[in-house]
Amino acid sequence: MNHFVEENLKRVREHMEAACARSGRRLEDVKLLLATKTVTLEKLQMAMQAGEVLFGENKAQELRDKFPLMQQYNRVEWHFIGHLQTNKVKDVAKYVTLIHSVDRLKLGQALNQQLLKENKTMDILVQVNTSYEESKFGVPPESALELVEQLAALERIRIKGLMTIGKWKGTPEETRQCFRLLKSIRDQIREKDIPHVGTDELSMGMSGDFEAAIEEGATIIRVGTKIFGERYLPDSYYWNENIRGNE
Ligand SMILES: *Cc1c(COP(=O)(O)O)cnc(C)c1O
Repeated sequence: MNHFVEENLKRVREHMEAACARSGRRLEDVKLLLATKTVTLEKLQMAMQAGEVLFGENKAQELRDKFPLMQQYNRVEWHFIGHLQTNKVKDVAKYVTLIHSVDRLKLGQALNQQLLKENKTMDILVQVNTSYEESKFGVPPESALELVEQLAALERIRIKGLMTIGKWKGTPEETRQCFRLLKSIRDQIREKDIPHVGTDELSMGMSGDFEAAIEEGATIIRVGTKIFGERYLPDSYYWNENIRGNE
């Protein structure tokens, strides 16, 4: 049996530990989320057998396809990290415990409606476009506070913090600026002390930049390639679907 997933996991965890040591943080304050878009069930299973418990998907369809396997591992938790269309909230809410990508009021309202129907609540993060790239989703940084205030009024949604994707192919310094910006927006929101709004979670950092993200305060890093290998679909397939008309 091929153990490359396990070996990659070990390496990533070593880098996490080093980044925590460099920045005076505790390893237990940083969660590793495995980004599993396009990843085969076989590789997923390797990760679960290695003891991993936190996974993130980008599409409702893939969540559905992978659900039977997930059910076999009862400690496993799913998050949703991809762009979410309002007509998919029902499918997604069924499977996940945290949605990282709420970036507009309309989406929050659709989600709230669905949760009311099902009589349940959902934890979310607000995704911020800290790199100002058009190809990325996320609320513009200057509108983040306003969106948080609006979402806070929706009774079935529990805001837990913020999420961002660092600048695509940016220099290390540019990427780090994205993370710093997210943290400063978080601090601004925290100061407002908005009822029912949690600000503890900062979901930032991927394969190429998770160490910098940890140094800048990430509490959840989302890593795919460094653990599962290269994907056969470009990320633009997930990040720039040009489907805003569907909302
Ligand atoms: C794919 C993806 C990741 C992981 O990216 P890698 O570079 O493969 O580590 C993290 N976050 C989001 C939102 C993603 O879509």
